[in-house]
Amino acid sequence: MQTQVEVLAAVDRIATDVIAPKATETDKGAFPEAAVAAFAKAGLLGLASSRDVGGLGQGPKTAVLAVERIARECGSTAMVMTMHWSAAALIEKLGTPELRKQVAQAQLATLAFSETGSRSQFWAPVSTAAKSGDTVTLNAKKSFVTSASRAGYVWSSKPLAAQGASTLWWVPPKSAGVRVTEPFDGLGLRGNDSSPVTAEAASIPAANQLGDDGKGFDHMLGVVLPWFNAMNAAASVGLMESALVRTAKHATGTQFQHAGSTVADLPTARAYIARMRIKTDAARLITYDTADAMEAGRADAVLRVLESKAAAGELANEVLDLAMRVCGGAAFRKDVAVERVFRDARASTVMAPTADVLYEFIGKAVCGLPLF
Ligand SMILES: Cc1cc2nc3c(=O)[nH]c(=O)nc-3n(C[C@H](O)[C@H](O)[C@H](O)COP(=O)(O)OP(=O)(O)OC[C@H]3O[C@@H](n4cnc5c(N)ncnc54)[C@H](O)[C@@H]3O)c2cc1C
Repeated sequence: MQTQVEVLAAVDRIATDVIAPKATETDKGAFPEAAVAAFAKAGLLGLASSRDVGGLGQGPKTAVLAVERIARECGSTAMVMTMHWSAAALIEKLGTPELRKQVAQAQLATLAFSETGSRSQFWAPVSTAAKSGDTVTLNAKKSFVTSASRAGYVWSSKPLAAQGASTLWWVPPKSAGVRVTEPFDGLGLRGNDSSPVTAEAASIPAANQLGDDGKGFDHMLGVVLPWFNAMNAAASVGLMESALVRTAKHATGTQFQHAGSTVADLPTARAYIARMRIKTDAARLITYDTADAMEAGRADAVLRVLESKAAAGELANEVLDLAMRVCGGAAFRKDVAVERVFRDARASTVMAPTADVLYEFIGKAVCGLPLF
C-alpha cells in the first residue's frame, strides 16, 4: 500500500467485513480482537509509522479519515485504534528502532496517562518511577487505560530526578507488577477495555524511558495531543454520520399507517435531521482542517487541535440527542442502534483533555495568556 486511497480502501474493507458484523457483540463488552488482528495483518497498525520500520508513512489526515470510517461502524474499535495510533506517533519520535518496528507491525499500543490521583489532569501524574542500575520501578494507579489487557502502554510518571511534570515510559504488555484491577463496564465504548491499571513495584528496563527525564509534558502536548485530539474528533464525526444514516432510515421507513405518512413527513423531524446534518458537517470541516493544519505546519494548528476535539465532542452529543428525539421510543431499543451510538458519543467530552479543559486553554490562547 503506497497511497492514501489504497490505505483507506483497506480500512474500508475491514470496517465493512470485520468491524460492522461484530459491532453489537463489541457493545456487549467483547474486545474487538478480530478487527485488531485484521489491522495488523493488513499492515495498518503502522498506518502512521515510517516505512523504514515497516509502517505506511501516512500523516494525520489519513489517520483522521480512517478513524472516522471505523467509528461509523463501531465507536469502541475507533477508540482502540485512536489510542494505538496516538501512542505510535510518540513511539515514532522517541522509541528505539526495535520498539518502533514492533508497534508498526504487531504490538497494539495505548496511552496510560490518566490517574486516580490527578484524574483528567493528565499533565500532572502523581505516580512514581525510581531507578536502580538498569531497572526502573513504577508505582501507580491509572484510572482508565483503553485496551488495558492487550496493549503495551505509553506510561507517565513523575520524573526520576529532573525538574518537570512528568517522564514517559514504554511498559510492555503483561509486565510483572502491572495489573488490570477490574473489567471495564462503561456506559459507552463498552468494547474498548478501558480498565483501571495499577503498578505495584513493577520493574521495567531503564532503557524503556521515552525521551528525557522531566520532559514528558512537552511530548504529551507536542506529539500525543495533536494526533489524539484530531482522531478523537474524527471518531465523533464518524459516530454523528452513523447516527444520521440510522435516523434517516428510521424516519423514512416508519409508518403512521392510519395517516399513510412517515416520521420523515413531519416538518419537525426533518428540521431536526437538517440540524444533525449541519452539525455533523461543521464538525467534519473543523476536524479535516485540523489535520490539514498539522500536515502543513500552519500557524493556527495548535488552536485547531484544541478546537477540534471540543467542537466535535460537543456537537456529537447534540447530534445524538436529536437522533434519539427523532427516532422516538423506538430509539430506546437496540434494533434501531441509535442508542449505542448515543452512549458511545458521550465519552468524547469527558476524555482528557476534557471539553472544559479545552475551553480553558482556548480562552487563554485567545486572550494571549499562558496555557499553564
Ligand atoms: C471510555 C474512556 C476511555 C478512556 N481511555 C483512556 C486511556 O486509554 N488512557 C488514559 O490515559 N485515559 C483514558 N480515559 C480517561 C480520560 O482521559 C479522563 O481522564 C477521564 O475520563 C476523566 O474522568 P474523571 O472522573 O477523572 O474526571 P475529573 O478529572 O474528575 O473531571 C470532572 C469534571 O471536572 C472538569 N475539570 C477537571 N479539571 C478541569 C480544569 N482544569 N478546568 C475545567 N474543568 C475541569 C472535567 O472537565 C469534568 O467535567 C478514558 C476515559 C473514558 C471514559
